[in-house]
Amino acid sequence: MGKGFFNVPIAVNETVKSYAPGSPERDAVLNTYKEMFHSKIDVPLYINGKDVETGNTRTMSPPHDHQHIVGTYHLAQQSHIEEAITSALEARKTWSQMPWEQRAAIFLRAAELIAGPYRAKINAATMIAQSKTIHQAEIDSACELIDFLRFNVQFMIDIYREQPESTSEAWNRVEYRPLEGFTYAVTPFNFTAIAGNLPACMALMGNVVVWKPSDSQIYSAKVIMDVFKEAGVPAGVINVVFGDPVMITNTVLANPDFSGLHFTGSTFIFRELWKQIGNNIHNYKTYPRIVGETGGKDFIVAHKSANAKQVATAISRGAFEFQGQKCSAASRAYIPESLWEDVKNYVIEDVNSFKMGSPEDMSNFITAVIHEGSFDKLAKYINQAKTDSDAEIIVGGGFDKSKGYFIEPTVIVTSNPKYTTMCTELFGPVITIYVYKDDDFAQTLKLVDETSEYALTGAILSTDRYAIDEATIALQNSAGNFYINDKPTGAVVGQQPFGGARASGTNDKAGSAQNLMRWVSPRLIKETFITPEDYRYPFLG
Ligand code: NAD
Repeated sequence: MGKGFFNVPIAVNETVKSYAPGSPERDAVLNTYKEMFHSKIDVPLYINGKDVETGNTRTMSPPHDHQHIVGTYHLAQQSHIEEAITSALEARKTWSQMPWEQRAAIFLRAAELIAGPYRAKINAATMIAQSKTIHQAEIDSACELIDFLRFNVQFMIDIYREQPESTSEAWNRVEYRPLEGFTYAVTPFNFTAIAGNLPACMALMGNVVVWKPSDSQIYSAKVIMDVFKEAGVPAGVINVVFGDPVMITNTVLANPDFSGLHFTGSTFIFRELWKQIGNNIHNYKTYPRIVGETGGKDFIVAHKSANAKQVATAISRGAFEFQGQKCSAASRAYIPESLWEDVKNYVIEDVNSFKMGSPEDMSNFITAVIHEGSFDKLAKYINQAKTDSDAEIIVGGGFDKSKGYFIEPTVIVTSNPKYTTMCTELFGPVITIYVYKDDDFAQTLKLVDETSEYALTGAILSTDRYAIDEATIALQNSAGNFYINDKPTGAVVGQQPFGGARASGTNDKAGSAQNLMRWVSPRLIKETFITPEDYRYPFLG
């Protein structure tokens, strides 16, 4: 260290491959999918650079074929979590002193491994574990994860370059120390990229990590760990544990060296974790950093000046891609009366054209939802809508869990703007639409703002600049990511830093330097060249 001011490779977004019929990437991913689907893996815990088999295992199955077993994973006991913490703290002694360029090289290498030799494998694993179509897998587990890994390195040096003024008498320097202690990453099922990024970005900044992936994502998390291992992440820096989330979390949060939580998942769980950290606050050596990106009830508002076909496309893609299981998925829409007939017809036409089934058949646009719990919850709300007098299902409404957890893309129209599915995050392929009188645009914006506790994403579609401006102001606090004339999903690292406020999270913007700032504790070093030898100031004379 200290022998050069190194530039890093300029971060560029990974190009999304097409997987069109006849393309080499399509053959590669389909062959890998078949091979993985028809074999079984065993996923141990990963502690201090070693695979740990506990003997207590659970099976893993694809959501689109829940009786088919693709492997097992091992469940931790409390002693394993304590071991993971101890090994993280031990690794910290050397990792936190490792020059930044060495840390950067490891994660840049991880990005290239995913872009090349691991691409088909991580995509196939995400298709199997989370039932993503190849396009959804590619934009997540390949491209977004590669982007996170590349751009984080750029963001890290941008942070390191942020330095105070100095004078000829004193040189002021800031070093961006990793947090003192160990950090905890808790990741959701729905994005392989988020699962990889949460532990990786903390480790990149010099931290050591205990990482708990979602039970429903362990199959693809295994590929991430294989990549990190091959890229050279040293033993103890990222430790992976599976099992009872309550036991794991209790053990982690009870430790005085716990220094930060990087969470993505549902609002309720995040609030519980925050509360638990608060209850333990007297025990910690430092004030833990708490970063959480959580639920959403994301909206589309159309103004009467909007183009009906564009509104319908924003709904069809924004609500139903990946079965609506994106935190950013549109799940409520407000359409003016004058556009409704056209929007309705286009949406029904789109939904009726969707094919649903296994992601192995690449003509399918819709696959299964993640697990039985999610399926049952969605079925319950759909059944309720079938009987409620203020709701009507205009397309979809069917479901079947005999082979996989399949829920038909469903559009509910309600006469009650506060109807339950206008307010509650369902996290599935269901959107609820409220049709408003064209002249009630201002009141409708107020309704959008006040209907849900969340503020993650939202979109306004209009060709009228005054209406766009009015919505941008009225919805200032209703979404952390606000889209004009687009669907509210599909944020790209480095282009649309992602995060919401209110009940949607701490808004520390994944995919930006702001997030990485949370994982460092700056130390200011002032060095005075001529040290004073007399306490008296001139004014005293
Ligand atoms: P989830 O809250 O069920 O699980 C998230 C993680 O928390 C998992 O690792 C899970 O095992 C763990 N967990 C569950 N119970 C716990 C407990 N009692 N103590 C400690 N950990 C516990 O969420 P999910 O179903 O995996 O993901 C969907 C949710 O995530 C949705 O609400 C979605 O909006 C949100 N999400 C938000 C963003 C964002 O950027 N805002 C991104 C992706 C997902």
